[in-house]
Amino acid sequence: MSCRLLTLCQYETNKLVRINSVRLGSLKWTLNVVILMFICIMMLWNKQYQELDPVVSSVTAKLKGVALTQVPGLGDVVWDVVDYSGPAQEKNSFFVVTNVIITKNQKQGKCAEVPREDKVCQTDKDCSKGAWDQHSHGVQTGACVKFDVRRKTCEVSAWCPVETRSKPPRPALLAAAENFTVLIKNNIRFPAFNYVRRNILPQMNDAYLRGCHRGDDALCPIFRLGDIVHQAREDFAVLAVEGGVIGIQINWDCNLDRLMERCLPKYSFRRLDEKESNRTLYPGLNFRFARYHSENGVEMRTLYKAFGIRFDVMVFGKAGKFSFIQLVVYIGSTLSYYALTTIFIDWLIGTSCYKMEARQNYSERKVESVQDKQQCILSVSFVDEDQLRLVRKSRKKSLQNVKPLSVLPRKENNGSHLRAMLELPKQGSTPKLTPINGHGSKPLPQRGPGEPAWCLCGGCSSTPLHQEELCCRRSRGPCITSSPLFHPLVLSRPLLEALLRYRDPLGDPAGSTDALRHCAYEQYIAWRLGVPPADSHPVVPRCCVDKIRAEFPSLDGDYQGFRPR
Ligand code: ZN
Ligand code: ZN
Repeated sequence: MSCRLLTLCQYETNKLVRINSVRLGSLKWTLNVVILMFICIMMLWNKQYQELDPVVSSVTAKLKGVALTQVPGLGDVVWDVVDYSGPAQEKNSFFVVTNVIITKNQKQGKCAEVPREDKVCQTDKDCSKGAWDQHSHGVQTGACVKFDVRRKTCEVSAWCPVETRSKPPRPALLAAAENFTVLIKNNIRFPAFNYVRRNILPQMNDAYLRGCHRGDDALCPIFRLGDIVHQAREDFAVLAVEGGVIGIQINWDCNLDRLMERCLPKYSFRRLDEKESNRTLYPGLNFRFARYHSENGVEMRTLYKAFGIRFDVMVFGKAGKFSFIQLVVYIGSTLSYYALTTIFIDWLIGTSCYKMEARQNYSERKVESVQDKQQCILSVSFVDEDQLRLVRKSRKKSLQNVKPLSVLPRKENNGSHLRAMLELPKQGSTPKLTPINGHGSKPLPQRGPGEPAWCLCGGCSSTPLHQEELCCRRSRGPCITSSPLFHPLVLSRPLLEALLRYRDPLGDPAGSTDALRHCAYEQYIAWRLGVPPADSHPVVPRCCVDKIRAEFPSLDGDYQGFRPR
């Protein structure tokens, strides 16, 4: 219980490795400064320190203009705003009639239907009373009557005469609508900041509005319809024939910070409906309406099929104002960018930009590897190599040839070897110290007939176990057992006995052969491998094992393999 509680009262922190390097230090600070600059530029550029609020708006439009047109069957007709702006005003949009098909003086009655491919009849039998379809102008009476001199069609009960024209007149009757103007009034509000504004700015007075022109003033709220259509990259004369929909976009991008206050509308225009009228099934925009009157007590109407342009006003926008909370949130979200420095420098150390030693040393200090118990890691040292190799035990490959997991610098065990060296002169066998690394003047030993293939020193015997197939050398050369230090350091009986007594002062002074043999192995390991990594198992080369076993043989000839203390 108390143990559990203790873990609650603990704090763990990461262990860091400090590398003293001018190159790495300056690289780190350079990267951090670059990241800081990036963060600051992004913050100022995108105004990340601001709280944003979307726009709330209302739009009204006021059309102006008069046009004189020649209407077939009617003569000259003057169109003013009441005539051409259509019967209904929609929200955030306005409509301008640009073309029209007029059917005058219709009254309730019976007349011939407009002929279409399948609507021509020969006799009354071809017509059925009460029939009606989507394209009919009325309900069939069952009679087949003359439409014109050549054709007969079914008679219908309808507003007669029926509308006969289906294609709009070209050019458009009201093409002059190009010169009409519209005043767009747009009131906006940013509720979060309680900020109200309209597109008719405070400095715009009546004289300004009368004289302003969009060509040279982007803020003028009065638009010529022809200019709107032109800026939407359309031809007014073409568009006017069948009609269409044009979008007027007003974008408010407001900065409400005191020093940089700016809140002005930006207008843009584009066509919203299908442009290619010849490829579209129902192109343009049209609808019908009628005006009623009575003549001699009979109700009559004039039917209008109106083609025109609908202008949809769309208002977008947002306002931003400095907010301390937004600034803190933004700074918090950018802190993770600094991890890029660590990732980049760690990667750089891993590449060949850094010397092998620095890399080895760094990864060894930075990462503490703990081996799985199942895996046996062996440490191996060669006399012609200054470093220690860690290799994985293999059952299929000779240990001599297994690729190392890692290569470490050797850790010297000074204590015991200092003692051993102090003992040496007392033995009266001061060795003649000759270099053992390199080939010296000795001729390279030739490969003997019974010598295993993995041996490079000529001193190893063959063994059935792959994990024991280890020579004292990486390249061909003299064996370590031929070193003048080998005998006094590893095989000297008085030294080994002294070491055993040092360990167990009151033990058997002679020592058993097994104990002496194991002590000899330890001497070799301390000499050649120093202190091997804690979770690895040191391996003595075959030539040395042979020599040690020959010096201190097992009584029953059974060797169980060496386990270090
Ligand atoms: Zn060998
Ligand atoms: Zn050897």
